[in-house]
Amino acid sequence: MLLFFLEKFIIREIFLLMKEMNQSTSNNPTHFPDHWLEKIIRDIDARNPNEINLATGKTPSGHIHLGIMRELLICEAIRRKYAERCLRVIFRLFIDDLDAAKRFPSYIPSDYAKKHLGKPFALIPNPLDPSDSQSYAEIFGNELAQTFQEMGISAEIVWTHNLYKTEEMKEKIRIGLKKNELVKEIVAKYLTRSMAPEKKEEYLQQQKTWMGAMVICEKCQATQKKQKDGTISPNRVLKYLEDTDECVYRCPSCGYEGKVTIQSGLVKLNWRLDWPAKWTIFNTICEPAGKDHCTPGGSYDTGLELCKEIYGYEGPIKVAYEWLRLGDRDMKTSKGIVFTPAKFLEMAEAKILRMLIYQANPTKHISIRIEEMEQYYNEFQRIERIYYDLEPAISDNEYREIKYIYPLIIPDKIKAKLKYQIPFRLITILAQLKPILKESGVLTKTKHYLLKEYGNQEFDVEEFKMQLAKTSNWIQEMRNLIENEKNLQNKKEMERKIILFSILEEFPDELVSKLSAEQIKILREFYNIIETAEELTEDRIKEIMVHLRDTLQVKPMKIFQAFYLILLGSKKGPRLGPLMSMMAPVWIRKRIQHVIHLSEKK
Ligand SMILES: [Zn+2]
Repeated sequence: MLLFFLEKFIIREIFLLMKEMNQSTSNNPTHFPDHWLEKIIRDIDARNPNEINLATGKTPSGHIHLGIMRELLICEAIRRKYAERCLRVIFRLFIDDLDAAKRFPSYIPSDYAKKHLGKPFALIPNPLDPSDSQSYAEIFGNELAQTFQEMGISAEIVWTHNLYKTEEMKEKIRIGLKKNELVKEIVAKYLTRSMAPEKKEEYLQQQKTWMGAMVICEKCQATQKKQKDGTISPNRVLKYLEDTDECVYRCPSCGYEGKVTIQSGLVKLNWRLDWPAKWTIFNTICEPAGKDHCTPGGSYDTGLELCKEIYGYEGPIKVAYEWLRLGDRDMKTSKGIVFTPAKFLEMAEAKILRMLIYQANPTKHISIRIEEMEQYYNEFQRIERIYYDLEPAISDNEYREIKYIYPLIIPDKIKAKLKYQIPFRLITILAQLKPILKESGVLTKTKHYLLKEYGNQEFDVEEFKMQLAKTSNWIQEMRNLIENEKNLQNKKEMERKIILFSILEEFPDELVSKLSAEQIKILREFYNIIETAEELTEDRIKEIMVHLRDTLQVKPMKIFQAFYLILLGSKKGPRLGPLMSMMAPVWIRKRIQHVIHLSEKK
């Protein structure tokens, strides 16, 4: 009996000890109040919400570039944190397809652009295929939405043209028009703040007839006209007739004059009111926005005051973020630098983008550099090893940060144990050897690597194949970038970031003349040494090279050049040891045999 109690006591003690240990090692580190995301969550919590409505918005004026991922992934992280707490949370992406085309990107044919300028994107046909029933907005909006699953984003898409058909929105338009004087006053207060007195007077004069809504022309579908001097003339509501719910307008594009009811769905709020109206309808508690909107007294602040004063809602928590840049360039839809989220996913996994975004405070800009892909993957794997306690972090702070962000980087179920990591460098080499190794050979080489490193050759083949395909695309992109780089210094820098080579699948007969008799001798001797080898390790290749140098009394350069020529058809290439160790000895023998045979025919 005593033994029984003693046993129970010990078990209880062990349990308590384990609980304590868990709290100090695994529970606590995941709590990282210093992370910027926690600050946003504290601000949201302070409002004590019953449900969380998050929003972001985008005008579908062309291919939507990668930059949008920053606000989408910020929102997604907030959504995830609340979903974990089992709070009702909805994240909406508003595709603002009633915004008018002010200009078109350079890849849109100019006659097409001319024809549709000034119309809302929802009413412009597909520019790539006019017979298609999808609108311009849908083409580019859906292109973005199709990446959501892989990016790990759970956003509900709200097409603004649908929202404008709802009674809630029509009500907000009526309120906005009824309180037009107050709207004008608030907008003017913010806009004229830093204006000189005479400039301010001029502005106020111009704004006398301003109304916060415009009409989609019944005749030409435009909502605005771009004048010759570049200024925009909107189809402004001239008068709102409350009794009949009608808006009087005159279209500057075609000259049509008419009246439409708000019920018709043809009246659209000016963007200054459109934003607060949406916030109010959806009870938006947080919306990140680019730094240009978020300057103190800027459009976000104006929107917040309008939201409060016109619609009686306090508005969302403002989260400003800096740009996500491509190298040293800003990505702008209108500038024609097309680097879409889909393009990123062709070359890399979403986790890399998530890592870059969640590591950086939104107030700091991020430059995505395609040439740094290997560094990104190495950094990801380092984070992963630290998360699984397989490598120490630089500091306690870093350790806690990694414990916090890794579950955001890998939003799918995190594995209990990290079984293996395949170096990115190895994948880049295998991807380039794929033409001769074939897929089966690439998988075998990977298994060999895993067996040697981890004593186990099991791995996720599907995941690996996907990464191999992405890496092949990245290599191709790097080839293009290097080829098109005019600046020699930059070109060299890029070449340093990647091991590029292409295996000669077939050896052209004429190349044999480039080999000296001495080099043929080197190859013949090498062949004899490896004649029965089933595997060639890096060390073994190095050993053979040294042996050849010493016994044949030849310069190492001559040896290397002979191999580069027969394997790659060039004078130089990546280090021979690692490269040849990845090739099948039988393939190397066949190639040498073929070359010797050709040299004998000479
Ligand atoms: Zn018109």
